[in-house]
Amino acid sequence: MAKRDQENYRKLFEKSYDAKILEGISNILGWDQETMMPEGASTIRGEQLKTMAGLIHKSKTSPDFKEALGNLIDIKNGKIIAKGLSKEQESALKCWRKDYLRDVALPEEFVKNFAKITSEAQVVWRNAKKENNFKLFAPYLEKIIELVKQKSRHLSKKGSHLYDALLDEYEPGMTTEDVDALFKKIKDPIIALLKKIKSKKQVKDDFLHGKFPDSKQVSFSQILLDDMGYDKAYGRLDFSTHPFSSSSHPTDSRITTRIHPTSLMSNISVILHEGGHALYEMGLDPKEYGSPLGQAVSLGIHESQSRFWETRIGKNKAFWKHYFPLLKKAFPKGLEKIDLDLFYKAINKVEPSFIRVEADEVTYPLHVILRFELEKDLIEGKLKVKDLPKAWNKKMKEYFGITPKNDQEGCLQDVHWSMGAFGYFPTYALGNMYAAHLFETLEKEQPDLEKKLEKGQLAFLKEWLKDKVYRYGRQFESLELLKVSTGKPFTEKAYVDYLQKKYKEIYGL
Ligand code: ZN
Repeated sequence: MAKRDQENYRKLFEKSYDAKILEGISNILGWDQETMMPEGASTIRGEQLKTMAGLIHKSKTSPDFKEALGNLIDIKNGKIIAKGLSKEQESALKCWRKDYLRDVALPEEFVKNFAKITSEAQVVWRNAKKENNFKLFAPYLEKIIELVKQKSRHLSKKGSHLYDALLDEYEPGMTTEDVDALFKKIKDPIIALLKKIKSKKQVKDDFLHGKFPDSKQVSFSQILLDDMGYDKAYGRLDFSTHPFSSSSHPTDSRITTRIHPTSLMSNISVILHEGGHALYEMGLDPKEYGSPLGQAVSLGIHESQSRFWETRIGKNKAFWKHYFPLLKKAFPKGLEKIDLDLFYKAINKVEPSFIRVEADEVTYPLHVILRFELEKDLIEGKLKVKDLPKAWNKKMKEYFGITPKNDQEGCLQDVHWSMGAFGYFPTYALGNMYAAHLFETLEKEQPDLEKKLEKGQLAFLKEWLKDKVYRYGRQFESLELLKVSTGKPFTEKAYVDYLQKKYKEIYGL
C-alpha cells in the first residue's frame, strides 16, 4: 500500500509541478510588464496574462489533478487515505486539498465578472485619486464590496464571519477574531507610545534629504544585497514605478527598486525590504518546487521576512555602525558633520503622517489597523461606502491626531480595495509582529548578534532564517510555524516590547 501511495503522491506532485511552471511563466510576464515591456504592448500583455491565468486554473482543477488528489486524501472531509506518507507529505496534501477546494469553489462566470469589474475599478480609482474625487470611485467600491461578499459566501464554512474567507486567502488559518484580538492588544499601547513621543522634542533629519546621485545609490544597493547573501546568479535588480519582488523559482528571484534622487533612505529601505522577500523565495527547497512544501506560508510570513531586514536590521544601530561610514564615503556632501547617533535617530524619526507606505515603525501598524477596522465594517454592512471618507478621517484624528485635507491622502491612497483585495491589509501588520517574535529568538540564540552586525556580517542571518522559516515551506500555518521555530507560542509581546524599549531610548521618554 505504502509503495503505491508514494507512487500516487509522485503523480500528484507532477501534476502540481506543471501548474507551478505555468505560474512561473506568468510571473516573468508580470515582471517584464513592470520593468522592460514597451508601453505599446500593454493590451497584448493583458491578453497573454489572461490566457496564462486560464491555463493555470485549468491545470489546477483538471479531472486528472482531482483524481490524483482524491487517491490520497478524501477531498470532501479531508481525511488522509494514503498510508505511509511522511508528516511533511501529509501537510502538503492538506494544503493541496485546501487550494483545490478554493480553486473550484468560485463559478467561472463569477471569476470573469470579478476580474472585469476590478480591472475597470482600478482605472477609475486611479483617476479618482488623481482628481481627488471619491464620488467617482464610490459606485465601483460598492459593486466590489458586493462581489467580495459573494466570493466569501462561495468560500465560507457555515457560520463563519464573512471576512474570514477573505483573510484566509492571504493568511491561511487566521480568523477575523484572531486578528481583532491581536490588533486590540497592540492598538492602545502604540497610541500611548505615539502620544508620549509627540510630547518630546522632534529629532533632526534634514540631512536625509538633499541630492544623492542615482548611480551611487545603486552601487550602495549592490553592497547591501551582496552582504545579505542575495546571489546575483539567481536574481536581478531592476527599476520600476512601484518596487516589488517576483520569483518564478528559487533560482530566479528578482527585485526592483525606485531611486529618489533627493531622499537618502528610500532606496535603502526598499532594497532591504524586497531583498528580504527575495531571499525567502530563493531559500525555498528547490526539490519541493511545485509542492506546498516549496511554497511560502502566507503574506504575513512573507512580510515578516521583508520587515525583518528593512526594520530590525536596517534601522538597527549596530548595523549602521558598519554601514554608516560607507554611506558617508558614498555621499560626503551633507553627511560629513553627522555622527552615528544623530543618523540613527534620524532614520527612526516618528511622526504621524497620512501615507501608509511612507510611515515610520510606530505609526505603521496604526495605518493597518485603521484599514482593517474599516474594511471589516464595510463587509459587515456597518459602514456605508458613502460614509467611508468621514469614517477614515475620524479614525485618523483619533489614532494619529491629524486629519487628511483630502481623500487623495485619505481613503483613496491604496490600490487594494479597487483590486478587490479585502483581507490583505492585516498581513502588513502581522508581518511586523511575526518578525519581532522571530527576532527575540534570534537574539537569544545568537548572543554575538550585535558584534556581527557591527562588522557588517549579515550572511548568517539568511542561514538562520532558512533554518527557522524557509525550509518548511507550507508545512505549518503561520502561528504554528512561529511556535515550531521559536519554541514559544506567538504573542504580540515581543513586538510591543521592542517598540517601547527602542523609542524610549531614542526620544528619552
Ligand atoms: Zn512587502
